[in-house]
Parts: sequence; C-alpha cells; structure tokens
Amino acid sequence: MSLSWPNRRPSDSEAAAMSTNNSAAKKPIKKTPEDFIFGKVIGEGSYSTVYLAKELSSGKEFAIKVLEKKHIMRERKGDYVMREKEVLMKLNHPFFIRLYYTFQDEDRLYFVLSYAKRGELLDYLNKLSSFDEHCSRFYIAEMVLALQYLHDLGIIHRDLKPENVLLNDDMHILITDFGSAKIMRPEKEERPKSEDSHGRRRNSFVGTAQYVSPEMLTNKKTCYSSDLWALGCIVYQLMSGLPPFRGGHEYQIFQKITNLEYEFPDGFDKVTRDLVENLLKLDPEKRLGCPEMGGYGPLKGHPFFKNVNWDSLPDETAPDLLPYLPATSSNPENIWSSYRPGLDDKRIGEIITHTVITEEERRLRLEKQARENEYHRFVENNLILKQGLVDKRKGLFARRRMFLLTEGPHLYYVDPVNKVLKGQIPWSRDLKPEAKNFRIFFVHTPNRTYYLEDPKSHSQEWVAEIEALWHEHYGLKK
Ligand code: ATP
Repeated sequence: MSLSWPNRRPSDSEAAAMSTNNSAAKKPIKKTPEDFIFGKVIGEGSYSTVYLAKELSSGKEFAIKVLEKKHIMRERKGDYVMREKEVLMKLNHPFFIRLYYTFQDEDRLYFVLSYAKRGELLDYLNKLSSFDEHCSRFYIAEMVLALQYLHDLGIIHRDLKPENVLLNDDMHILITDFGSAKIMRPEKEERPKSEDSHGRRRNSFVGTAQYVSPEMLTNKKTCYSSDLWALGCIVYQLMSGLPPFRGGHEYQIFQKITNLEYEFPDGFDKVTRDLVENLLKLDPEKRLGCPEMGGYGPLKGHPFFKNVNWDSLPDETAPDLLPYLPATSSNPENIWSSYRPGLDDKRIGEIITHTVITEEERRLRLEKQARENEYHRFVENNLILKQGLVDKRKGLFARRRMFLLTEGPHLYYVDPVNKVLKGQIPWSRDLKPEAKNFRIFFVHTPNRTYYLEDPKSHSQEWVAEIEALWHEHYGLKK
C-alpha cells in the first residue's frame, strides 16, 4: 500500500461552499509546507507531531499535524490515518476540530487543522479535580450537541474522553481524534480492511479502557449508543473527579464495566446521578439519547439540562471554571461562626505556630527527628516544621495522607498505612495556600490546585505555616 492522497481540502470559503453542496464548482487550492511558518511543537501523538503554524497569506494560526509516512507504514496505521482524514473532511460544526487543508511531500503527510488554543479539557480537569454543576452542564451540553451532529452524519466517534475534547480561545469545545471513528456505511460500500462482514472491527477493542462501552467488550460491536456510554462516564468524571470504572489493570476495569459495577461518592448531585444512570445502561438500546429511546430530544429534555439554551450555546460566554465542592455534613459551608472575631495574641498563637529557628536549635531538632520520627526517612533530611494527617481530595474522592511541611521548602505527602512517599506539592513563587473553611484548604500551584481537608479542623494552621514559609523564601526576594 502506498500512502498518498489528493491535495484537495478546500480553503475557508470553499469549505463553506462545500457545506452547501456545490463543491464541484470550485477548484481546490494546493498548499505546500512553504505556505506556512512552523512554530513550536504543541503536541505529540503516537504517530504524529502537531505544530503551531502561521499561514503566510492570511496570517492565521493553525495546528498542523505532521505524520511520517515511513512510520505510518511500519506501524500499519494507514487505515487509521485515512479514516481520520475521511471523517474530518465531513465535519463542519463549531464543536469539532476542522480540517482546512491536507497536503504531502515525499516523506510526510500534513493535516492543517483549527488550532485549539486552550489545549485539552483534561488539563483543566486535572487542575481543578472536578467542575461545579454550572461548568459541567455547559461542557456536557456542548458535547451533547456535538454528538447529535456527529450521529446525524452517520459517524460514531468511539473514543470520546476528556483528552479528546480540546478548547478554542473562547473555551468552547473542539472534539478531535477520529482515528477510531466509524462511518456507518450503506451495505454495499467497500469496507475498511480492519472490519469483518458485520462491520465489526477485528481488533479486540477500540477506544480507551475507562470509557469503552460494555457492548464493545462483550460482542465487539459498536453503535451510536457507545458514544452515549462514554458521555455518561464523562458526566460522572467532571462532577466527581474520577471516571466511574477504575482499576489497576485494564482487565479489572473491563470486568467492572460489564458488571456495571460503580458507585456514586457522597455529595454527588441527585439530578446528575439520574442522568448518569440513564446513560450508563448495559443495554445500548436503553441509553438516553439513542435512537431506540427517541433520540436526542429526550436526552436534551433531562432535568440536568434545565435552562440550557441549545440554540445559543456556541455563542454563549463559557463559564468560569470552578471546582465542585459541595457542602456535606463533615464539611459545612459556613464555619466562620465558630470563631470569635478579632486578632488578639491568643488567636495569633492559635493560628501561627511557626517560629524562627537558630542553627543550634535546628541541629538538635533534626537529630531528635531522625531518632524519633518515623517519617524522617521521607523528607531528605529536611527539618519538619509541621506534620499531620490530611485528606487529599480529588473531586469527591479523598485519600488520607501524612503531610510533612519541611524546610527547603517542601510539602511531602506519604501513604500512612503502607508508609510510601506518594509525592510532593511543587513549591515555587506562584504557590499560594488558601483556607476555605476550618477543615478545607487549597494549595494553588500553576498546574494544579490541591484540595486538602484537615480532619482535625486546623486548616488555618496549615495555611499560616505554608504562608510563613513562603514569605521566608520568596517574600524578601521580590
Ligand atoms: P495518539 O495518536 O497517540 O492517540 P493523539 O490523538 O493525542 O495521540 P494527535 O492527534 O497527534 O495525537 O495530537 C497530539 C497532541 O497534540 C494532543 O495531545 C493534543 O493536545 C495536541 N493537538 C492535537 N491537535 C490539536 C489542535 N488542533 N490544536 C491544538 N492542539 C492539538
């Protein structure tokens, strides 16, 4: 097989013309790599490198995906690349990455794509752990509209996940990655080599373990409804911080999926739960939004989407991204009432325990720490200034860790049961602690906000200690 294709993706105006069905009337424009200035690399896939590039004639920015022909041939990914191109060429919708041109030279294939300036939705999710209801609703509603459009075209995505949801400059979604997509073909049309006579793929599974549908696992069949299953997993993840089916190995995850084995964490909103339960149905014909259940009307009518204006969604201003931190009995919203007003010496003493230490004192304390503190071995011989058990939250999930604030500065956290160092919160000038209430405090870093919960309700002490250390290291150097 040789890898080449006609240089035929139209310019913007031609694309518009194509969408109104008169593509034959216009002559396609030939582009070459010389028509673009290639800037930085913005991403790497298994078979491609994606560059930020500027078109010389228009000054517009694009993402150009470059694929080495030899590599594609060697890895036998020709079908995958061709399918991605075929699907991209059919798409013309604000919620999808758009393919503007394709061209090639002797060694490479080039896809000129819309540039998703804000990157992946997954990065934002990782930073915040979970989204509040308003944000989740906005992004899920956009995905629903996108899937409706895709399914109307007869295309199944088959690998929908937060990583494949990119964001444009205005923080609206741009769905990408169509290498695993399936175009539902009329009976007589030629099948891709990887599919059998029933339109099933010969591969064991397509997609990503956490989001793969049970029908894909049990009978290797996909249908439109498989994307709705993935959507259900994403709704759960946006609101809770983790996908519903988790495990150490793919096999464990697959077992949980086929047994519909998942739970809702404490604090999961009831209406959202109902939506998830209606999407995560083992029988694909019972999922809300599938053709057998009446299509997208009933899905869009679910109470979760109350007040969503479907027609204006692409033009709406995207909401500020905020984490989902519902009040629970152990985490009440308003706890300030339990403190007396004012900042007298006693209160300062309660809050701040940090003091300046002399060299001699440090030496003695370190010696004592090495002798007596079982956590000394995790802190690289740094003096521990504060330690305590803290629940490290990811969305609605939490893991208890021994937090060790040390000179350096460092903030180590250790699994207290297995006595294993799990990580460190990276320090920099941009690190900022913040108390939400007397149990919960945040540590903001450039790439992630850590949600921490002090079961002993001394979150302010942690914040004060971290702040004091920050001032010691960064405060004077400003
Ligand atoms: P794989 O091929 O291994 O499944 P992938 O699908 O993520 O990986 P690519 O589509 O080549 O591979 O994308 C590589 C990276 O480049 C992605 O992680 C994505 O963040 C980034 N990227 C891809 N397309 C764009 C785009 N249009 N705008 C901005 N970034 C993009």
